[in-house]
Amino acid sequence: MSKNLTSRAEDYSKWYNELVVKADLAENSGVRGCMVIKPYGFAIWEKMQAQLDKMFKETGHENAYFPLFIPKSYLSKEASHVEGFAKECAVVTHYRLKNAEDGSGIVVDEDAKLEEELIVRPTSETIIWDTYRRWIQSYRDLPLLINQWANVVRWEMRTRLFLRTAEFLWQEGHTAHATKDEAMQEAEQMMHVYAEFAEEFMAVPVIKGTKTESERFAGAIETFCIEALMQDGKALQAGTSHFLGQNFAKAFDVKFANKEGKQDYVWATSWGVSTRLMGALIMTHSDDKGLVLPPKLAPIQVVIVPIYRGQEQLDVISEKVNPLVKELRSKGISVKFDSRDTHKPGFKFNEYELKGVPVRLAIGQRDIENGTFEVARRDTFEKQSVPADEVVERVISLMDEIQKNIYKKALDHRASHITEVDSYEEFKKVLEEKGGFISAHWDGTMETEDKIKEETKATIRCIPIDVKEVVGECIVTGKPSPYRVLFAKAY
Ligand code: AMP
Repeated sequence: MSKNLTSRAEDYSKWYNELVVKADLAENSGVRGCMVIKPYGFAIWEKMQAQLDKMFKETGHENAYFPLFIPKSYLSKEASHVEGFAKECAVVTHYRLKNAEDGSGIVVDEDAKLEEELIVRPTSETIIWDTYRRWIQSYRDLPLLINQWANVVRWEMRTRLFLRTAEFLWQEGHTAHATKDEAMQEAEQMMHVYAEFAEEFMAVPVIKGTKTESERFAGAIETFCIEALMQDGKALQAGTSHFLGQNFAKAFDVKFANKEGKQDYVWATSWGVSTRLMGALIMTHSDDKGLVLPPKLAPIQVVIVPIYRGQEQLDVISEKVNPLVKELRSKGISVKFDSRDTHKPGFKFNEYELKGVPVRLAIGQRDIENGTFEVARRDTFEKQSVPADEVVERVISLMDEIQKNIYKKALDHRASHITEVDSYEEFKKVLEEKGGFISAHWDGTMETEDKIKEETKATIRCIPIDVKEVVGECIVTGKPSPYRVLFAKAY
């Protein structure tokens, strides 16, 4: 199976699409831009969800659920918000179908036209802030720290499995605060939570930063983000957290009485990560043989493949394997014993390589005689013969080693793909020949940013939060610049 995978060097984007389908993660559906997430892909997403959910709850958030539909008038209340999303909205106009009078099939019943059109949520600030007006009266009702797991629809024209789909799954946090500082701290905190999740669990190193005005979320005053670098040198926005100021509180008239009894508008944040994280995970670690999954998110962490002929040999092997499976599971490790007799071991090896199972154990006649298992790791392809009574220990340490190794590999790749440049010529050359992040001075204007984007397709990914204030000259206009920002071509 894996033989058929296009190599990354040959065509990175083809490699990605093939891998997503062949590793049974997802596939395109009959609906333009909408994907079917298959059980193996969904199992990874569920692990991501479970961990993120835990981290949200540890930082004081609770889950709730709001409607899929948003009345058009709500969306219009915050001017820059509607402007940003208008081009991507799916609109519901009718609520009934009927048989066509000329017998030509089912048609929309024009008598069932909605009085007010409904938008399928592209994000839920408006419906949520309309609700918060009823929930918030006094400072005692604050902070309100809510998260929703949901699907949203943005009518994207150019879609790619996981990375950019018309419908996607995500979580959206929406919090309300009594003070500006508190809201700002919340928005920043969630960027750190996302970064910790990306690095500790996905083994994906990210750069934390803020967006420039043109890349900011529609309706936000500040957008914090985490940016990852894929193996082909393109960046991927992996998560965003917005400080919304009082924009939505003003649009939806959400006021509270402060401690002095004075009325004030509420301060807001929103933050989200989506199924795009699946794309980040795949593109960061995988190779020409298939997926490479971090042990912390792998649905199957260890697969055991018996090499045998006939039931008798399998029985002998199973006697060794069954207690091992039990012990590994008791240590919290997910194990699959693949004793199917419908497929040869070689086929199974390929399949689990393709699916990125971190550790493979094989056991055949010679291992039975020697009292060993063959232990193979997916990230480096190293194989080792390990005495049966040391296997559990070895597997446990491999979980940790693999997690760390793939993180380090990604980190090294990123480190070698951040280039400082001091001229536009150099900028274009690096972008063309090497890709990655380019650290350069910029004059802070949208015009220069637009010009660079138009001429090179590179955008400002972020102003890193740990940016050093070093005065320089903009690579395009020569005007003064207070610090370097990070550019890249992005997904
Ligand atoms: P936003 O609400 O625009 O800040 O986006 C929130 C999160 O959803 C970010 O992490 C984006 O990278 C991600 N996202 C935005 N659009 C899409 C899309 N079409 N498909 C998948 N993820 C998306």
